[in-house]
Amino acid sequence: MRGTEQQPVRCSALQGSVGAMVSCSIYAARSSTCRDFRAGDERCNAARARHGLPALAEDGTEDLAIAA
Ligand code: SF4
Repeated sequence: MRGTEQQPVRCSALQGSVGAMVSCSIYAARSSTCRDFRAGDERCNAARARHGLPALAEDGTEDLAIAA
């Protein structure tokens, strides 16, 4: 994925501002790596933590018990 070899890592297909609102500009054609990534899994929450964002629940929703 273009952009993931740079520091700081940022996929060139990512649009928006992390922590505010983002979207994937190639969502329908994204790679299997992206398709296999699950919101709320261990890798997702590790990436969120690197950006200072709270963990998501395993179903990909915000865990209000943690965020509160
Ligand atoms: S889903 Fe994949 S291709 Fe789309 S912005 Fe995220 S890392 Fe990039």
